[in-house]
Amino acid sequence: MIKVVKDLTIVPISLEDDKTLRRRNTCIKDEKYHQKNDFHQRFKQADVKEALKKIYYGKCAFCEQKISICTNNLLEDCSSTVEHYRPKSHYYWLAYSWDNLLWCCHRCNQNKANNFELLGTPVVYHKDFITAIHTSTCDYQAVEQPKMIHPELESVLDKVNFGQGVMASEDERLNYTIRKCGLARSDLNEKRKKVIDDFVKKMNDVILAKQPKETIIKQLLDEFKDHESEFRALRYWILRNVNALVS
Ligand SMILES: [Zn+2]
Repeated sequence: MIKVVKDLTIVPISLEDDKTLRRRNTCIKDEKYHQKNDFHQRFKQADVKEALKKIYYGKCAFCEQKISICTNNLLEDCSSTVEHYRPKSHYYWLAYSWDNLLWCCHRCNQNKANNFELLGTPVVYHKDFITAIHTSTCDYQAVEQPKMIHPELESVLDKVNFGQGVMASEDERLNYTIRKCGLARSDLNEKRKKVIDDFVKKMNDVILAKQPKETIIKQLLDEFKDHESEFRALRYWILRNVNALVS
């Protein structure tokens, strides 16, 4: 996970058009989200997907893998989905809220499902919420204190470790997020271990050849700074642990 910046003042047009407003009003009137295609389609409009893809640099909000927009209905692990940070099944009034929508891979989406435990007090719908329907997350966070980390509000760089490629943390909330989203799943662990192993091999090669290590470290630093890179949090962790990793 890496913190992502989203401008909440630029809301995709289709999240504010008449069709979406009607669906939201129906959900509010019935006090539930309607699990129907014409309700799902309103947060899956092309402008919403394109905006999220750009903001997230084409990567999953949770596992940081590159994902692609699915052009058919055959969802694969690398397919993108529009994920609701607060599950729409419970927070029905937030189904079309810009600050509640994340760019997420199919696997993380399936794993996260409706998991959303709170340390604080649950928010109950109130009609005044409509005035800040796209910008209420920060207020909700303060009251509810969800265990699930919000990738647009929090950085986990100093709380996470990736020994042997396995994502882990002693922080209660990050640990919850890792467990519920399945961020320590074997295929991810293997991909991250390969990044570590490749770096260690390059470092050992230059050490053996009595060449400066700085070039290899600078390369990793550039990869960490590049928003397009996969696994940026992992690269940050490697940079912090170079001495321990390279003997
Ligand atoms: Zn993912």
